[in-house]
Amino acid sequence: MSNKSYLLENGDITRTILETVGSLVLILDPKGRIVFFNQTCQDVSGFSEAEAIGRTPWDFLLPSEICESVKSVFFKLSAGDFPGTYENVWLTKNGDQRTISWSNSATLNDDQVVDYVIATGIDITERANLQTRLEERVEERTRELTRTNQELAESEARLERAQAMTNLGNWEWNIETGDLVWSDEIYRIFGRLPQEFDPTYEAFLDAIHPEDREKVSDAVSEAVDKNAPYAIVHRVVCPDGEEKVVQEIGHVLRDGNGKAVRMDGTIQEITRDWHSREALIMASRSAGEASHAKSEFLAGMSHELRTPLNAILGFAQILQTDSRNPPTARQIQNIQHILDGGNHLLELVNEILDLAKIEAGHPDLSIGVVDANKTVADCVALALPLGETQGIRVLDDFNKQPSANIHVDQLRLTQILINLLSNAIKYNRKGGTVTIDGHKTRNNSLRISIADTGIGIARKDHAKLFQMFGRLGTFDGPGVEGTGIEGSGIGLATTKALVESMAGNIGFESEEGIGSTFWIELPLAPDGAAHP
Ligand code: ADP
Repeated sequence: MSNKSYLLENGDITRTILETVGSLVLILDPKGRIVFFNQTCQDVSGFSEAEAIGRTPWDFLLPSEICESVKSVFFKLSAGDFPGTYENVWLTKNGDQRTISWSNSATLNDDQVVDYVIATGIDITERANLQTRLEERVEERTRELTRTNQELAESEARLERAQAMTNLGNWEWNIETGDLVWSDEIYRIFGRLPQEFDPTYEAFLDAIHPEDREKVSDAVSEAVDKNAPYAIVHRVVCPDGEEKVVQEIGHVLRDGNGKAVRMDGTIQEITRDWHSREALIMASRSAGEASHAKSEFLAGMSHELRTPLNAILGFAQILQTDSRNPPTARQIQNIQHILDGGNHLLELVNEILDLAKIEAGHPDLSIGVVDANKTVADCVALALPLGETQGIRVLDDFNKQPSANIHVDQLRLTQILINLLSNAIKYNRKGGTVTIDGHKTRNNSLRISIADTGIGIARKDHAKLFQMFGRLGTFDGPGVEGTGIEGSGIGLATTKALVESMAGNIGFESEEGIGSTFWIELPLAPDGAAHP
């Protein structure tokens, strides 16, 4: 205490300055006992001067874990070794911690021995907290970046796997520097090793099949000049001579002035698909040719059959009506069998001839504007008697709507409707109904539908329905049990071919045991077009 009074008397001007200065000022004797504890020290620590004077900082001001290190700094100081500035933490009276940045000096006595250690400090708690927060933030960002890098690496690996699975690689070409970057998959497609091959545009062109080179360079030039992205198929020749087919897509990237600066795109190997597609095209072409040849053959054969058949029928009629040699009753019966069978055969031959002609693309059509309502009404009138014989009602709901003109061949339309109506009656059940209805569709067609309450069509038979001779278990012949309903199995095939030859569509819905609805869609005549 005597030192304190010796050093800084009350009222002393130095004491007043040290008391009121904004920094912490702490004066300790060589044993570390506090002899001066200014107002700022009191404000920061919460301890009064009376509570501090005579005690050492490690008695009450410092967290226990730093006491030893502070003590050793202090005793170095008091031995005249000044480490300059350092930081430590004060434990305040209410238990908070404050970080203080100190600078030290000492007063020496006449023997040049340390008399007092003078420590001036600044409370840098806020700055230190900020710094800690900043450091935490930096750490967090670093962690995030590491995570992002990992994710990036994983997603690159995924992309590489996806490229390998789909045989698809991507490329990027810097038009200005000439640098071309290929993904690994492109190297694989081109049969090159990344470490041995330097991809440049010229090297890329060299790898293209000579016959396709011009096509590729034209597509690239056009993309650059006309801003037209391209998608082309071309061949690539690998160093071992293997030829591959690839699909290449490319597009140009421009700078703010519209100058082409970069191109990027993809290359996908499609060798196998390409060869199977080629094979498919060849197969479908030859199937088409075969089907055409079949139709031509049927047309020719039916034509050839009609002449002898007509002769048979003609002679049978002569025999039946020969007054000079009148046939006996038994002979008349036999001749009638010849006539019935011959007529049935002739009908069949005529139907085959008709279908063959339509399928061969030579149907006799006379397309014009046709009043659909009138044709439907006429067909219903023709079907009514057949319906009556089978106990089936034929209802015309179609004519409840305003009349519609369609662009078709009237006779062929009648043939189509009669065929569908007679099927709806034939394959109905006693007391059933057949309803014809329809409406205009959104794609400028007229839909006419014929619904029956008949036997329906089993799902397994749907695909066979429109095929020639596609009778479905209804055929009544030797060894085959059927319903006994007469038919040739040609009607629906002819109907479909006719509808399609008039730019229409045909379809059906059916449920076994409930009934079927067959519909056709034919093009509406343009507004104002009148039928003759
Ligand atoms: P068919 O001369 O035998 O009637 P189609 O070509 O007109 O020949 O019909 C082919 C087959 O489709 C018929 O034998 C019949 O089994 C089936 N079919 C056609 N229309 C109907 C229908 N409305 N209901 C059930 N089955 C039908």
